[in-house]
Amino acid sequence: MKPIRNIEYENLSGLNAPFRDAYEAKFKSLLEIGWFVLGNEVTAFEQEFNDYIGSNFFLGVASGLDALELPLKIQDWPADSEVIVPSNTYIATINAILNSGYKPVFVEPDIHTYLIDPSRIEEKITTKTKAIMVVHLYGRPCEMDPIMELCNKYNLVLIEDCAQSHGATYKCEATGTFGFGAFSFYPTKNLGALGDAGGLSVVNEADYAKLKAWRNYGSNIKYKNEFVGDNSRLDELHAAMLRIKLEALDEITEHKRALAELYREGLDSSKFILPAPDHNTEQVYHIYPIRHARRDELKAYLLEHGIKTEIHYPIAPCDQKSIQDVFAKKGWKLDDNDFKLAKEIHSSILSLPISTIHSEEDIAYVIEVMNAFE
Ligand SMILES: *Cc1c(COP(=O)(O)O)cnc(C)c1O
Repeated sequence: MKPIRNIEYENLSGLNAPFRDAYEAKFKSLLEIGWFVLGNEVTAFEQEFNDYIGSNFFLGVASGLDALELPLKIQDWPADSEVIVPSNTYIATINAILNSGYKPVFVEPDIHTYLIDPSRIEEKITTKTKAIMVVHLYGRPCEMDPIMELCNKYNLVLIEDCAQSHGATYKCEATGTFGFGAFSFYPTKNLGALGDAGGLSVVNEADYAKLKAWRNYGSNIKYKNEFVGDNSRLDELHAAMLRIKLEALDEITEHKRALAELYREGLDSSKFILPAPDHNTEQVYHIYPIRHARRDELKAYLLEHGIKTEIHYPIAPCDQKSIQDVFAKKGWKLDDNDFKLAKEIHSSILSLPISTIHSEEDIAYVIEVMNAFE
């Protein structure tokens, strides 16, 4: 075995190093201009990201969570209306539904793709169902054809959690263009700002107009308020930095895809469950998840060899106190049958290093250490 190399899981300073000069120059000019909220940078970024994914409209907002919440908050649905959501996801997806006053209805993932299983959705649709919230988890697009069919058949709103899927496509269409597309630009995401930031793609113009007011206290004309909205604005500073990084997003994605290919070729697939290959999709590998029955042991072993990994996510939503408390208070039931596969995934999944800070040599080392795991 080669000598120990230190492989970080992620390093935000290193990640942003290629952009440092451009960021500094931009920061100086923004300080001089002195316009910090809803100005030219936000408008330009909205246009550029809209062009990048090919959506109809795009709005900068304050975070990924806000982007998930706003399309729910503008609706006039009865309280306790139901929103279908995968039972394995980051907690934000579920919080968005609860914060908007609606009920999350959980659907199990496909055990190979870790994405909502379209064949299990219809049995969960009731007269109270108003929306389906899909999550393009780890950067892999969901199977959209059957999901769109269900939305059309039952007249449901589609919200896509694109926090991990910037630029990923299903049948050549980018995630976020099928319904409302909620993007996070949290610093570690494939397209990350220097703080909290988010964005929302919108298909229809009336929704766009309402959302545009909603993010700014329900106001499109200064001091004239049409709705009780939110303060969820993307800052000029973040928009400016995002514009710089957006120019490099294709390169970032290509780098991650090349590292994923090394893992796919190099990792012993009789020892580890590797991500399923693309099918109608081009994923962007926000995360490279593998599964192993003795995950915690594997994680400790890798750390002994200098390799840091992460778990996305260690606790299934149904096991979170926050979710259990709300369900108990509302008198809703959490059914174990809705979480069998979710729990299996959450207990065995491990995220390997796959960042722009990593070289091919780094990944070759990770592969060698991984394959020597007994
Ligand atoms: C990061 C993330 C979010 C939340 O985004 P924030 O910008 O942190 O609010 C939502 N869903 C998923 C799947 C995420 O990974």
